[in-house]
Amino acid sequence: MPTVLGCIADDFTGATDLAGLLARSGVPVSLRIGVPEEPPVNAAAMEVIALKCRTAPVPEAVSDARAALKWLQQAGAKRFFWKYCSTFDSTAKGNIGPVAEALMKDLGAEQTIYCPAFPENGRAVFMGNLFVGQQLLAESPMKDHPLTPMRDSNLMRILSPQVQGKVGLINRLAVAAGDETVRKELRKLQEEGVAHVVVDAVANSDLEVIAHACREMVLLTGGSAVAMPLPELFRAEGILAADASKAFAPSTDPGTIVLSGSCSAMTRQQVARYLETNAPAYQIDPVELANNGPQAALNWLAQQDLTRAPILYATAEPAELKKVQGILGAENAGELVEHALAACAVAARDAGARRFVVAGGETSGAVTQALGVNRLHIGEEIAPGVPWTYCRSDGHVIALTLKSGNFGAEMFFRDAQAMLETT
Ligand code: ADP
Repeated sequence: MPTVLGCIADDFTGATDLAGLLARSGVPVSLRIGVPEEPPVNAAAMEVIALKCRTAPVPEAVSDARAALKWLQQAGAKRFFWKYCSTFDSTAKGNIGPVAEALMKDLGAEQTIYCPAFPENGRAVFMGNLFVGQQLLAESPMKDHPLTPMRDSNLMRILSPQVQGKVGLINRLAVAAGDETVRKELRKLQEEGVAHVVVDAVANSDLEVIAHACREMVLLTGGSAVAMPLPELFRAEGILAADASKAFAPSTDPGTIVLSGSCSAMTRQQVARYLETNAPAYQIDPVELANNGPQAALNWLAQQDLTRAPILYATAEPAELKKVQGILGAENAGELVEHALAACAVAARDAGARRFVVAGGETSGAVTQALGVNRLHIGEEIAPGVPWTYCRSDGHVIALTLKSGNFGAEMFFRDAQAMLETT
């Protein structure tokens, strides 16, 4: 069966988040890390390609996304989804808008929607403004993100400088009126030459309406949640087989490692709670790394009993992060940490770890790359948007969960492990 929906995600955790939500419907979902070099063979009904382009220069992000689109088209996909973070993480130049515009051009699409809302994780869009829980995006901890600090909450204002076409809004009142009204509003905006339509959503029922109204659009863009209703809608339309498959869960040896390179507010709590459980822990100091490399962390790791699920973390409070970035530069500090955690992942695997809990989008990218992983099969969801996934690394079957900074509950690191213990 050819691929029905082809998805392109701007980072790894975003891709696993989307893949996990699509897999809730029981449809087989496969996730590729980077654009595969080989043409598609045994493609799944839903294919997600994870890029690492959130903060890449615009031309690089655009060319990666276009290559991904081409591969997905070869797999048979006729409808596409451009997935970015539910906190609309982008720099002043992009890459949400430029990539959407390039994909639209390649697909001959005149209009697309932008809907980062993810109600289960507290992300809502109202009158074009993005909320994180009860806070506006620009007042939420996202204002201090190491790579994409978000200092505006208005999606039209963020998007307009990123695109050449006109930007418009379909507000919550129209969404509340139902899919027919949304379709009418889209047509009206199209007549006014609006190519980029931000769509309000505060509840899952809004996302159902939006997905229903927009399911025939060749390109949709958003956070993962607006894509969640698509498998059912495609089944109803007859373009996706009705048979459901069981969650994918091969058994793995119990050696576990937890790696956290995220400084997001939720990850900080998760690390703190995990330390309270007396797991063996090592805090990575980026300044020390800059001077001496990751050897101290690797030496510590070599002494650990992996069945106790040790954690290595660089997770730091905003003030500490600022200090380190002042000394090393934000990009340099980020890369040092990513390389160190990636090296630890490989060392842990070589020492027998088969279960990997990783926190941080960029961090996950670095870790999967180092583990030589290029295809993941999606398993059971641990928390909304965070599934266990299964893959091969150096010939071993490993379980990997890649958690975006602010996802998961406080006990996520333990919750993840407990789920594998019961399967
Ligand atoms: P999130 O999903 O929370 O955004 P990411 O891994 O995508 O997490 O981004 C966090 C970035 O911050 C990474 O580049 C990481 O290497 C960097 N980082 C983590 N800890 C520190 C630290 N203590 N000092 C400086 N940079 C850090």
